Amino acid sequence: MLEINNLHVKLEEEDKVILKGVNLSIEAGSVHAIMGPNGSGKSTLSYVLSGKGGYEVTDGSAKLEGVELLDLDPEERAAAGLFLAFQYPVEIPGVGNMTFLRTAVNAQRKARGEEELSAGDFLKIVREKAKALQINAEMMKRPVNVGFSGGEKKRNEILQMAMLEPKMCILDETDSGLDVDAMKLVSEGVNALRDAGRSFLVITHYQRLLDHIKPDFVHIMADGRIIKTGGPELALEVEKNGYADILTEVA
Ligand code: ADP
Ligand code: MG
Ligand code: MG
Repeated sequence: MLEINNLHVKLEEEDKVILKGVNLSIEAGSVHAIMGPNGSGKSTLSYVLSGKGGYEVTDGSAKLEGVELLDLDPEERAAAGLFLAFQYPVEIPGVGNMTFLRTAVNAQRKARGEEELSAGDFLKIVREKAKALQINAEMMKRPVNVGFSGGEKKRNEILQMAMLEPKMCILDETDSGLDVDAMKLVSEGVNALRDAGRSFLVITHYQRLLDHIKPDFVHIMADGRIIKTGGPELALEVEKNGYADILTEVA
C-alpha cells in the first residue's frame, strides 16, 4: 500500500535536517504504529506524505500503490486515497462543517470518476456516521472545528476519514488530549474502517491507544529514522521502560 524508501527531508527555510532516511513498508489491510520521543520527526513524516509546504525532500521516495506521492499536489494525494488526521486539527471559520464534508466527499468522488452524492444520500450517510462518533447536528452546522473541544476536533477528524473512505489513513496523535471515553469512540471509529483494502499508520505516544486499535507492527522513530520495529509487545516495552533502553541498544 505504502512504500517509503530512504526518505530525507529538511526544512525549506533552514538548514535543519529532520528526516534522515526513513524506510517503511505498509501492506494493504495492516495497521502500523509509530512511537518515538518528542521531536523525532513523526509529525514531519505525516506532513511530508500529505504534501504540506515548508519541507524539502532531498532524497528518497514514498509510493502509494506504486504511485509516487511526492510528485503529486495535496489534493491529488487525497484523491489517490491518502488521508491524514492531524495532531492539531485546524479551525476553519466561515466554512460550515457539513458544507466542508460534502465538498470534500464530492471532490473525492469526482477525482475517482464517480458521480456526486445527492443531497439526500449525503445527509443520510453523514448523519449515521456522525451519530456513531457522537457528533450532534449542532456541531455539523458550526464552522469546521471552531469552538470544538479537543476531543470533538479529534472525533471530527475521524468523521472526515469515515466519509472520505481513504485507502491509507495516517493518524497523528489522535489520542492526545482525549479522555478515556473519547478515545474509545475514536478507536471504535477507526476499527469500523479496518478492511483488507485499507491500511493505517497510527502515530501515538501511548500504548493504551494500541490496546484499542491493535497494530500488526510497531516502529520506534528517533532522530529522523525508524530505529526499531517489532510487534505490539514493543509498545508495551516502551510503556514500561521508556525509550532509553532502545536508544542505548541501537546506539
Ligand atoms: P514529533 O512529531 O516526532 O514530535 P516533529 O516532526 O513535530 O516531531 O518535529 C521534528 C523536529 O523538527 C523537531 O525538532 C521540530 O522542532 C522540528 N520542526 C518540524 N517542523 C518545523 C518547522 N516548520 N520549523 C522549525 N522546526 C520544525
Ligand atoms: Mg510532538
Ligand atoms: Mg508530532
